[in-house]
Amino acid sequence: MKHCIVQGRRKCGGSNHLFIIIKIMNEDNFVNIGEVMHGLATRLWPINRSLTGNGVRETLNILQETLPDLVIHEVESGTKAFDWIVPDEWNIHSAWISDENGDKVIDFGKNNLHVVGYSEPVDLWLSLEELKKYLYSIPENPEAIPYITSYYSRRWGFCLSHNQLMRLKPGLYHVVINSEIKLGSLTYGELLIQGELEKEVLLSTYICHPSMGNNELSGPVVLNALAQWISSLLDRKYTYRIVFLPETIGSLVYLSRHLDYLKCNVIAGYNITCVGDDKAYSYLPSRNGKTLSDIVAKHVLKHTDPEFKIYTWLDRGSDERQYCAPGVDLPIATISRSLYFKYPEYHTSLDDLKFITPKGLEGGFIALKRAIGCMENNCIPMLKTIGEPQLGRRGLYPTISTKDTIDEVRVMMDFMSYCDGTKNLIEISDLINQPHWLPARWIGPCPLFYTEVLDRWLRQYRNKFHQYNGFQVVSEYAILLHRQLNKLPRSW
Ligand SMILES: [Zn+2]
Repeated sequence: MKHCIVQGRRKCGGSNHLFIIIKIMNEDNFVNIGEVMHGLATRLWPINRSLTGNGVRETLNILQETLPDLVIHEVESGTKAFDWIVPDEWNIHSAWISDENGDKVIDFGKNNLHVVGYSEPVDLWLSLEELKKYLYSIPENPEAIPYITSYYSRRWGFCLSHNQLMRLKPGLYHVVINSEIKLGSLTYGELLIQGELEKEVLLSTYICHPSMGNNELSGPVVLNALAQWISSLLDRKYTYRIVFLPETIGSLVYLSRHLDYLKCNVIAGYNITCVGDDKAYSYLPSRNGKTLSDIVAKHVLKHTDPEFKIYTWLDRGSDERQYCAPGVDLPIATISRSLYFKYPEYHTSLDDLKFITPKGLEGGFIALKRAIGCMENNCIPMLKTIGEPQLGRRGLYPTISTKDTIDEVRVMMDFMSYCDGTKNLIEISDLINQPHWLPARWIGPCPLFYTEVLDRWLRQYRNKFHQYNGFQVVSEYAILLHRQLNKLPRSW
């Protein structure tokens, strides 16, 4: 049933690809979602992304296949964004170092980390000693090619593993970089998914790193899947603003265009980065540290992985730096797996398609999905009965009494005991030490509680009755729906 409605919601036709992923996402336990995301990462892997250039456009075009409403914006080089200026556009076609015999010893075609990002074009013969001034390696991690960029001062260079560097023999080398840096534009993608409210959740990720897994591709592929899932929801409270942009300059450009509106409307959001390995879960707070995004992130992670790592604002390193900057002050926090700077493969060729796994990506997706569910479900529930309600009369009491069912009833009664209209669902869930998705399942459209969620259901279904007979009819319909929903897969 749910699936049909999802199809009905599709506005722009879309591709078969879209159809497949939504179908997968509505299945009970998201079978294959990790493989689907890893497959997309594998497809995006070889593209040479940077702050600007055709690699960013190609990446966005691929994301658009599954997100047909994604709008691609171009912002001219030289455009001011607060204290920054959009740089010239960089594109690279090929680059290599060859020895005197013409044998390529380093080839950008084999790994796009081999060239320092934004390298100027060169065509030179150099001795090994001269060449070494332009070579970068990591002696303490001799297998890894480092990821190095020079966006704002003109230079050129090659990156290679320390083992490769050690193998270079004295002699002359031919160095070629076929690149161009000229006036062009910066490219970003933006998707607005309208909800019932103007209030927004901002989800942001970056698309400016070449071939790396956790610290690049995990973000766009998880956000792509999340955006599809959000679009497929039957009923959305919040509007979702989803952006794929180059880190730092992209978020600054975006903020410079929308700051006033965002400050009025964004109630929560996450910078989505490093969500693809299966080694850890991490939380990095907003600068404020007490926003809805922070409360939700800690709640969800505690019930997803009790061992999750808690970082501080001092550990920041991505676009939260702009979103939470003084004068911007948006409520943006971070839910990650292994966080940038904190794993040895970070910003090297070892952060590859093996470092991110289907299981790791799925874990990142589920944690963020739970966070969104937490915000969507949040409400201030108030019990409608005086004294404990009689659950049996309403079909809510288990007909068989086992330890499990007794425990569940106990938790349900604990929950109800706090439903006095002063605390929200997240606060009560924390008080009874349960994940929000458990009580969210009970209250949904349940007539036992006054909630804004129930109000929404009432408004939505009122028109469905030819002879609207007041609250009672709707309540009965709500009970039916409630039971039906409890049989459906529980994703939140
Ligand atoms: Zn990075």
